[in-house]
Amino acid sequence: MRETFIFKSSSSEETYEMLVSLTPGQERILCGCPAGGHMTLCKHALSLLKGDPSLLLDKGQADTFLDLHHRMPEPWSDMLDQLGDLEKESAKIRAQIKKHKKMIVRKLQGA
Ligand SMILES: [Zn+2]
Repeated sequence: MRETFIFKSSSSEETYEMLVSLTPGQERILCGCPAGGHMTLCKHALSLLKGDPSLLLDKGQADTFLDLHHRMPEPWSDMLDQLGDLEKESAKIRAQIKKHKKMIVRKLQGA
């Protein structure tokens, strides 16, 4: 099963094509956006894994998009759960860094 989805850039008028090919044991998502071209998990590929069609340019593609999402095999949901956990940890650490930097600035300013 192969489908192409179109997304609009959030920062320009550019559009990006994402090719999804689902062969059992060989799932491929290739996105033409700048992040997708650099072996980065872009928000478009992530939106398919999460089943969120809100970024699609043509909302008429939403049903097909969700159908493909449901055809993605199970390991993806485990991987997404792990990603979610790591993102939560990362947010916690970022907050600690921010707090620590503020403390350093306060000391530098003699407060
Ligand atoms: Zn992308």
